[in-house]
Amino acid sequence: MDGNKRWQEGDLKHPDRDPGRREFVAAEQDPFGVILSCIDSRVPPELLFDTGLGDLFVMRTGGQVVDSVVTGSVEYGPMTSGTPLIVVLGHQRCGAVKASYEAMRAGKKLPGNLQSIADALRPAYKETVKGKHDDPVDAMTRIHVKQTSAALRSNRDLDPLVKKGSLAVVSAYYSLDSGRVEVLTGAPSA
Ligand SMILES: [Zn+2]
Repeated sequence: MDGNKRWQEGDLKHPDRDPGRREFVAAEQDPFGVILSCIDSRVPPELLFDTGLGDLFVMRTGGQVVDSVVTGSVEYGPMTSGTPLIVVLGHQRCGAVKASYEAMRAGKKLPGNLQSIADALRPAYKETVKGKHDDPVDAMTRIHVKQTSAALRSNRDLDPLVKKGSLAVVSAYYSLDSGRVEVLTGAPSA
């Protein structure tokens, strides 16, 4: 979050990005966080958290949706080397969420493999249309990251780590306009 503050203010440190760091992490990595975010070109985690080499495990999919391969990749750090943080990061004006929302509303399918993204977003869509929202696409994005982080937090392998206090699973939302990451759920209380 300190790095994100620097990003918002344009006061970047670009930490851990020199040959010394490359040599330091060459033999072994110990990232402090896992970020699951969207493929959107405007949402690269290493930039908007001002991090460097070896700092983060990063997974990016359209609309930050998960399947078993992605979930396994998210779990890798926490399960094998005690990475203490997972952030599921949605963002403002997400094209994947918007296209999926509109297709489901119209009862249509997205072309080709894109439909698998819409399928993965269906639970968030269903929750969204239960309520009234000025901006349903934005609401669906927030609902989706909350659902995804809740599912990760309570899954068979991560739940024991969360209960032990050695892992936090956070949902968050990134504003393209301000550069700010807002934590929605799961912030560690300590
Ligand atoms: Zn997106």
